[in-house]
Amino acid sequence: MIYLDYQATTPLAPEAREAMIPWLGGPDSNTFGNPHSPHRMGRMAAAAVEVAREQVAALFPPGGQVIFTGSATEAINLAIRGNAAVRSGEHTAFCAIEHAAVIDTVKAIGNWTELPVGADGVIVPDVDMPKYVGLLAVMQVNNEIGTIQPIAEMAKRAKETGALLLVDGVQAAGKMALPAEADMIAVSAHKLHGPKGIGALWVRDGLKLIPHVEGGGQEQGLRSGTLSPALCAGFGAAAAQAVERMEEDATHAEELWQIARDAFDGWTLNGSAEQRWHGNLNIRKDGLDVARLMSECREVMFSAGSACASGSGRTSHVLRAIGLSDAQAKSSIRLGWGRYTTREDMQRACSIILEAADSQG
Ligand code: PLP
Repeated sequence: MIYLDYQATTPLAPEAREAMIPWLGGPDSNTFGNPHSPHRMGRMAAAAVEVAREQVAALFPPGGQVIFTGSATEAINLAIRGNAAVRSGEHTAFCAIEHAAVIDTVKAIGNWTELPVGADGVIVPDVDMPKYVGLLAVMQVNNEIGTIQPIAEMAKRAKETGALLLVDGVQAAGKMALPAEADMIAVSAHKLHGPKGIGALWVRDGLKLIPHVEGGGQEQGLRSGTLSPALCAGFGAAAAQAVERMEEDATHAEELWQIARDAFDGWTLNGSAEQRWHGNLNIRKDGLDVARLMSECREVMFSAGSACASGSGRTSHVLRAIGLSDAQAKSSIRLGWGRYTTREDMQRACSIILEAADSQG
């Protein structure tokens, strides 16, 4: 199988797996302690969590705290639901192509303002921002079309209205610097070769949040619940690798981008080619039957561009926001690659997909 769905999840890095194994903690080990217990085994586990926290912190700008959560979705929920301005009824403004973790959470609370993107999939920076906005949520890299948002400009817009800035950094973390202008940044381990089931919220020093999970008071009282030292250790090791290999990984992704762009020369790119992470290709071909294509290319793991991640079959809100018709969205596919994708895999996957697409006439 050739895996070209890196925006959905990524393979676990061998270094992350190695780091996790000791902390899985069988009965003959000393490593199954509860990191919140005061005895020696507990302190050993807590030390492993703190090493991981420092490794994960290296992904972020200086001047903030890392709160471990169960996922980026949970981190985003903490950032929004734990925000005093949002709780007091101020609006949350969000970009139209945000992930469901942002859009559905904000809409569930109410009081929201949606900000449009252009046909290139980039937010319009001089968009009207109402005064009653208390929180602005903008993702750094889009998960469907890979476009990179002008975070520094949006941070200025947030400051002008006195709003805090939440950045969904899930698809950017480990690939590029996360924005120093943000007040909060959410990330997920499994998108950067770490384990599934752990994410983090970075919170600027001095910013107070209201807990949304109550209980034993872990994670500075913001997110109660026993941490998994194994998941933390895996996340930490994956983050350390990502920081160390950032340039090398980006160069590799760029090489594969060139192969894919050349192969799909006659197809139309969805979203900007330049203001984009080059580990994502979202493309369309008029009249393409994507369901048939996917069933004929079982060896290649890729995604239909039209359906959102939940597999609900709804037309993607992202493709709609950049002005695509239903038919155009339905003839779109998303390919995503990264560190462990080889040139040979990419070439082979492109020819399999092209052959199947061409056979549709
Ligand atoms: N934000 C973006 C941009 C994503 O791509 C994802 C995952 O698909 C999430 C948030 C949610 O991450 P998690 O799987 O950790 O909840």
